[in-house]
Amino acid sequence: MYIVSACLCGVDCKYNGKNNLNEKCLKLFKEGRAILVCPEQLGGLPTPRNPVELQGTSDKIIGNREGKAISSTGEDCTNQFIKGAYETLKIAQTIGIDKAILKEGSPSCGCNFVYDGTFSGNKIKGKGITAYLLEKEGMTVFSDEDIEDNHDKLVYLDKFDREKAKKRKLFKQIEEEEEYVEEEYYDLTEGLSESGELPSSVEKNVKRLMVSLAKDLMGFDNLEEISEATGIDVEDVKKMLEDTDDDE
Ligand code: SF4
Repeated sequence: MYIVSACLCGVDCKYNGKNNLNEKCLKLFKEGRAILVCPEQLGGLPTPRNPVELQGTSDKIIGNREGKAISSTGEDCTNQFIKGAYETLKIAQTIGIDKAILKEGSPSCGCNFVYDGTFSGNKIKGKGITAYLLEKEGMTVFSDEDIEDNHDKLVYLDKFDREKAKKRKLFKQIEEEEEYVEEEYYDLTEGLSESGELPSSVEKNVKRLMVSLAKDLMGFDNLEEISEATGIDVEDVKKMLEDTDDDE
């Protein structure tokens, strides 16, 4: 069971009265595996409302009130944001839920980044107030982007996404433990065979590069993990690593 940002399941609770529908989250909800929350509504804010950004980090805002949640028109919404975070935590603890899927980028729900407080569209690494509180209280918190699979090829190109990739992997493991049939997340070779136009030497080099990225950039350090991350057979991974060692 997951706590899920209500806007991800099509509830029009977003600041502009719209939603952020995510089919995977909606599927969880339809299966009875999601409790929907909107921390900003739970904190007493109306919908629609003015957009809010954080000035300061969530740990300090929640810990000692250093920093604020400020709307685009200058209203101080810090109290409502903190109340919404604690109401969400209360719901999770009451039902005994220890996992959440929250909307990335939101000043309440963002798990990996938030906007920088200038209302100019700049993203910075950080967490929304609810995401921070839930994690601090021991919950495992994923963002909608963490669970999305179709950006995985990009993961290998961006160090910033390393943590997200690990979360995707963790989410997949949890889903498997719950015997939930989920698609493979890490088939980086998908499309290679379909293209049918890559000379075998090029395909081999592409695979070697993927193995190297999985090992050196992503930090996967055993054969099974690298194989899972790249979609390449364990034996082939082993051989490529041995070849690389020989080259060095
Ligand atoms: S507070 Fe969270 S659930 Fe509510 S609209 Fe914003 S992102 Fe969605």
